[in-house]
Amino acid sequence: MLTRLFRMHGLLVASHPWEVIVGTVTLTICMMSMNMFTGNDQICGWNFDCPKTEEQILSSDIIILTITRCIAIVYIYFQFQNLRQLGSKYILGIAGLFTIFSSFVFSTVVIHFLDKELTGLNEALPFFLLLIDLSKACALAKYALSSSSQDEVRDNIARGMAVLGPTFTLDALVECLVIGVGTMSGVRQLEIMCCFGCMSVLANYFVFMTFFPACVSLVLELSRESQEGHPIWQLSHFSRVMEEEEDNKPNPVTQRVKMIMSLGLVMVHAHSRWIAEPLSINTTVDIPQVGMELDHLSPRRIEPEKPLWHFYLTRMITMDIEQVICLALALLLAIKYIFFEQVEMESTLSLKNPITMSAPALTPRRPVETCCRKEPYTPRPLAPTQTVAAPAPTNMEERDEVIRPLSAPPADPQQKSFFVVGGGEEELRPKTNQLSIPLTPRGLDECVAILNSPDLGPCFLSDAEVMLLVNSKHIPAYKLEAMMERPERGVAIRRQMISAKLPTPSALSSLPYTDYDYSKVIGACCENVIGYMPVPVGVAGPLHLDGKQFQVPMATTEGCLVASTNRGCRAIALGGGASSRILADSMTRGPVVRLPSACQAAEVKAWLESTDGFQAIKEAFDNTSRFARLQKLLVCLAGRNLYIRFHSKTGDAMGMNMISKGTEQALSRLQQHFPELQVVAVSGNYCTDKKPAAINWIEGRGKSAVCEATIPAKVVREVLKTTTGALVEVNISKNLVGSAMAGSIGGCNAHAANLVAAIYIACGQDPAQSVGSSNCITLMEASGPTGEDLYISCTMPSIELGTVGGGTNLPPQQACLQMLGVQGASQECPGENARQLARVVCATVLAGELSLMAALAAGHLVKSHMTHNRSKVNLQETPGTCTNKAS
Ligand code: NAP
Repeated sequence: MLTRLFRMHGLLVASHPWEVIVGTVTLTICMMSMNMFTGNDQICGWNFDCPKTEEQILSSDIIILTITRCIAIVYIYFQFQNLRQLGSKYILGIAGLFTIFSSFVFSTVVIHFLDKELTGLNEALPFFLLLIDLSKACALAKYALSSSSQDEVRDNIARGMAVLGPTFTLDALVECLVIGVGTMSGVRQLEIMCCFGCMSVLANYFVFMTFFPACVSLVLELSRESQEGHPIWQLSHFSRVMEEEEDNKPNPVTQRVKMIMSLGLVMVHAHSRWIAEPLSINTTVDIPQVGMELDHLSPRRIEPEKPLWHFYLTRMITMDIEQVICLALALLLAIKYIFFEQVEMESTLSLKNPITMSAPALTPRRPVETCCRKEPYTPRPLAPTQTVAAPAPTNMEERDEVIRPLSAPPADPQQKSFFVVGGGEEELRPKTNQLSIPLTPRGLDECVAILNSPDLGPCFLSDAEVMLLVNSKHIPAYKLEAMMERPERGVAIRRQMISAKLPTPSALSSLPYTDYDYSKVIGACCENVIGYMPVPVGVAGPLHLDGKQFQVPMATTEGCLVASTNRGCRAIALGGGASSRILADSMTRGPVVRLPSACQAAEVKAWLESTDGFQAIKEAFDNTSRFARLQKLLVCLAGRNLYIRFHSKTGDAMGMNMISKGTEQALSRLQQHFPELQVVAVSGNYCTDKKPAAINWIEGRGKSAVCEATIPAKVVREVLKTTTGALVEVNISKNLVGSAMAGSIGGCNAHAANLVAAIYIACGQDPAQSVGSSNCITLMEASGPTGEDLYISCTMPSIELGTVGGGTNLPPQQACLQMLGVQGASQECPGENARQLARVVCATVLAGELSLMAALAAGHLVKSHMTHNRSKVNLQETPGTCTNKAS
């Protein structure tokens, strides 16, 4: 009943903001001009000396007043600090408006309604400030700001009023009664201030119930639309306010205590004012008495000729000590708040504030509601553990027992997940989804109808029902992510289905899948997704290369690798840095075509190698991309099979897709010229991609790079813990002779693949291309005047990489590319980012070679791997492992 009354009041005020604001302002102006007791209409202030009562102010009073003022200032400071944590300028603005206006109303009421200044507003002001509670105003503002349309603003203000109104009314009553006790104390100063306190509470209450909601409603209406058509004031992180309405409701126990307290206080007041003899008729101050006492006093104009600035300057100079203290405190806090807290608060807000933390994840409520709730429906709350019997009714409108989603579960990356058992696997599932679905699967036909219904869709199906649809081929298993309302749900369901078929059903529980942006993966990077593989990423550096410094990200599970590379980087830096060059930039694709005879194949070869033939093919090839530019063709025969190696620049892309597209077009053009030509495969392994091949080693593929450095003898000794002589000897014996003995092609190095693979995984490259990209020859020589310095070079002819396309489009991988300053397409010169990345790869390989070769030369390798690279787990004791202790 009371709630409904407040709701109606809130709706009325929010629907007629102009009327309420004009009415309140008019009332205030009327009070200003009203002569309640004496007919005196003079405002005390500049050039008017206000009437003062003849009274003795004790020094103890002054101390108490000063302390009260200081407390009030600090209190207001903390209120504003709390407000800032809400992170909204609107809230701050509206709350500030509220404070200023209530202060205005208060002082107006006090001064003009009584027509007296009493002992000055100064004494009462601290009390007034202490009584302001901006949190309630903010709570109401949050209700309004959570709306997505003007109609919703009114409704939400009404709801807020219904929730907050009764509490605020009771609080105002209790405060008035408590403070009112002070008016019976017999201490004159205290009585006067308590009088002001009561009036302050009433003024605040009046403003909160009328002017404030009207102002909020009006402000939001005036700033209704942004350029994009969205309400500019809608703050997504307040959209939970309505859902948290329960939390805002007052605690019934507290309410009861307050009511009992106010009843007691009413009795105390009644007893001391009417039943019992007043403590002292002369000292008890209530408002009319004060008015009576001071009736004979009226403001008196002082020094009529004195100018305004002079008047206030004199007043400032003649300030009392307590006023100076208060002013200094207020100034100090204001300076702290404005200059020293802003940055700190903002940075901590973004990390700590749960409201802002969850903000980006919240789905706007409206669109979801229109998607999932067409027909009027009253949701039934359901306890998390409650089970629902859903006997699968045929008519959707009649199905009371089916719990439908209040809103589609938001794809909330910050939302904490929890484990529930499903399909034999402990799955991370969003709680909201669990609450909103029937636990008993409905019939297949009904599920199909729900899935295909434009008004309903998969968010109205339980996981079990979706699995039913997958098993019955109504949902293709590979399309799960695309067909669910959120890709993550599709991934979760696939995990459940796969888990049931695994030897260990809980196998996937340690493979994460939540908090991942699958939109960048679907149709681009991976299919049949069941999660993602977190790989530790270390950093090696600074790598001093070509006058710049790089921090190199490396994703690896091999202990020692990053530390070892880091040591190599340090040696390079102490030696003055490394230098690199790109020797060639050309990706390749090598299709195989067949002709009726070897002679005809030879004719085709000759035509392709002619200027006319090459130009015709190049025209067709180059037309397929803005960046692919055919550079040369390498043609060879095997009988009547013809292998054509297309060499092309690919800008910042690694370029395999790009160049495949161009090759296809070029082959069509070739077929037009030689109709008897048959394309066997667009890739004839003459490329050669992802396989060891001498052609890449000899001809180069992707970026061909070389990097060199000179390491002073002292650094070799102190950082690498070896000597140049030992290093050179090991390099010859291992990297050159050893590799030759093994018949290696492109493997004249210690562990280039280690560095290539770690950088490739971190930076979103195709890891399979570490096969060709690791081709490297490492050379070491003694150099310098004494022959004790070390000259080292790494030559890598086939680094296949890019900074656009493929895995480089995924945000974590982009972060690693950004570490190197090469993410995305180079704006100045297409291809420059990819070439820079290739130089970094080559230089990091050099650092890795230095360190590993030094460890080998010094005999440290085995020792350090035993320390840093061995499992600390007793693998024999791992559950499920056959220990075979008996044998
Ligand atoms: P892609 O993403 O297929 O192509 C690059 C795209 O980026 C093109 O559309 C290109 O425009 C555009 N682009 C914009 N700015 C660019 C710039 N500055 N430089 C270059 N391109 C720019 O990437 P891709 O490198 O060709 O292919 C990489 C993917 O292929 C990886 O996922 C890899 O795993 C996979 N791959 C495929 C094969 C295969 O045989 N097809 C083999 C190995 C690996 P345009 O449209 O104008 O060219």
